Amino acid sequence: MADEKTLFSRIADGDLPAEILHRDEHCFVIKDISPQAPTHLLVIPIKPIPRLVDATLADRALLGHLLWVAGDIAKRAGCGEAFRLVINNGAGAGQTVFHLHLHVLGNTQFNEASLLG
Ligand code: AMP
Repeated sequence: MADEKTLFSRIADGDLPAEILHRDEHCFVIKDISPQAPTHLLVIPIKPIPRLVDATLADRALLGHLLWVAGDIAKRAGCGEAFRLVINNGAGAGQTVFHLHLHVLGNTQFNEASLLG
């Protein structure tokens, strides 16, 4: 069964090292290992939902909680008024880890005209 754990479940369970910036009963937050911005955090539910589209209506409170945590951690990370949340859904959108996560990107200059970069 251990082999079936996702990368992020292994981190949550302490099988892999990571600096945990926040943890509660529903989710945890780590620094992205390959940051795309000075602040690049991942908000990850403990429940290993593979993709956003795999969430069910029963997960709606969890999804709301992830958003709230993302905003709170962005504030605590000093992102001020300008930060971006990204969810890659599916390999075609760049998803590489199939355990739902929100990217929190901040403390950088955004191209206001583009959502893609
Ligand atoms: P995505 O491409 O949306 O699935 O995002 C997966 C993210 O996980 C990427 O930005 C990776 O850099 C990040 N990542 C992969 N392995 C680790 C790890 N061990 N610790 C922290 N972040 C990781």
